Amino acid sequence: MATRCGNMSAMAALTSHESSVVGDVATGLFIGGQWRDAEGGKRFDVEDPATGQTITQVADASVADGKAALDAAVAAQDEWGQTPPRERGEILRSAWEMITARADDLSLLMTLEMGKPLTESRAEITYGSEFFRWFSEEAVRISGRYSVAPAGGSRLLTMKQPVGPCLMITPWNFPLAMGTRKIGPAIAAGCTMVVKPAALTPLSMLALAGILAEAGLPDGVLNVVTTKSTGEVMEPLIRDPRLRKLTFTGSTEVGRGLVEQSAQGLLRLSMELGGNAPFLVFGDADVDDAVAGAMLAKMRNVGEACTAANRFIVHESVADEFSAKLAEKMGAMSMGRGTEDGVEVGPLVEAKQRDKVRELVEDAVEAGAKTSVGGDAPEGDGYFYSPTVLTGVPTSARMFREEIFGPVAPIFTFTEDEEALAMANDTEFGLVAYLYTRDLNRAVWAYEGLQTGMVGVNQGIVSNPSAPFGGVKQSGFGREGGFEGIEEYLETKYVGIAL
Ligand code: NAP
Repeated sequence: MATRCGNMSAMAALTSHESSVVGDVATGLFIGGQWRDAEGGKRFDVEDPATGQTITQVADASVADGKAALDAAVAAQDEWGQTPPRERGEILRSAWEMITARADDLSLLMTLEMGKPLTESRAEITYGSEFFRWFSEEAVRISGRYSVAPAGGSRLLTMKQPVGPCLMITPWNFPLAMGTRKIGPAIAAGCTMVVKPAALTPLSMLALAGILAEAGLPDGVLNVVTTKSTGEVMEPLIRDPRLRKLTFTGSTEVGRGLVEQSAQGLLRLSMELGGNAPFLVFGDADVDDAVAGAMLAKMRNVGEACTAANRFIVHESVADEFSAKLAEKMGAMSMGRGTEDGVEVGPLVEAKQRDKVRELVEDAVEAGAKTSVGGDAPEGDGYFYSPTVLTGVPTSARMFREEIFGPVAPIFTFTEDEEALAMANDTEFGLVAYLYTRDLNRAVWAYEGLQTGMVGVNQGIVSNPSAPFGGVKQSGFGREGGFEGIEEYLETKYVGIAL
């Protein structure tokens, strides 16, 4: 059984250090370089998911506030688009240095609003800030081409220009990194932006806005709007003809609706949507390595990651060994408030998320799955769910098709390699897949056949700021990070020169 640290009911209040870290964050709307109240002074609560207690309130933007943010982004676009690339790169570089220097406080802030353990928050601060370092280096490498027309005579020139004002909508599971992955390349490319962080976790983004302002980002380039009336405030911005790009990370369902709204303005789009990652363990795999990779692929971010392994598809010859070793490791994890020493599993972000996980586990057990470890939501405050391993899960279980987004590892088995690939691809999603084998030919055959945007071969984590992150099928389109990441914020202009 996973152990649970501390007495949750005694933890409702923030410590004085926690209060001061939360108190240091400006909680207004950041528009045109100024912090301001929402129209009518409206605010909404931000909770600590480990206790369910309110830790602070932030501004609750109205439709007019949203429009003011876009006005500011539009007003700043022309001048910002013409700044020297080196200047844009240096702002990103300074911001990366500041985030790195303040990583302890930023990690604590993230854990308080999102619940994950401090070590996970610290990892996200490193990962998220690296997008600023990477794109600080890419800002000065934006280039074009020059060629002679095949028939001779004219010359063909291509150049890159910023797309223009962008709207960025981000989810709660990586409150900083899902923003920096968009903000970094947009700043490098010379775009201005309005950012709308998730209502559950707005504080990391507000802290980031303060850092970027301190790093010298000109007024109006970045504007942050927090709101509880999300659809109502976002739709007029998406339909505003001055907006040129929408970049969204979140659920497939919401993403589909936003694509429809963006049709009128024919916006440039990036859609980073849901996942249902298969984790294949072939019969020749190093089982201990596969278990170590499985722990990362499953338990990173308490399972609340679009890249989380959702279906373990394991060859029948190693399934018992793999399941037993995974259950032992998952069962030994300590669960508690993410701020406590030694905690490896924090709460899920809200009651709805915990209840969904519970429902999916109940459904799998009813369909015939066996619980090797976990399978329960502990009593007490907060939205905890125990690390769980399920074996003998039939493919009729809902979790074969639906994103779990929690610390639950369902194990399915296969006999023939072709069967494993067919099972892996039997989903509407296509974000990432993982595979474990010692046979190079089998690895190449499998990664070429997997219908996903990313594959981890003998590794349980693929996220890397210098690599293109993104999916296919219902996991969306567009790439974040790598050389590809900045292209999403650039238009190609072709100039034909007659001679
Ligand atoms: P979500 O419910 O789709 O929300 C994501 C963002 O969209 C939030 O800021 C949310 O605002 C906003 N939103 C909700 N309804 C909206 C509407 N009608 N119009 C405009 N914006 C709207 O997703 P989530 O639960 O926060 O995040 C989990 C999902 O994100 C999972 O499916 C996960 O796989 C996916 N994800 C994908 C990636 C990737 O790179 N592919 C990375 C991380 C997460 P509110 O907070 O106000 O609701």
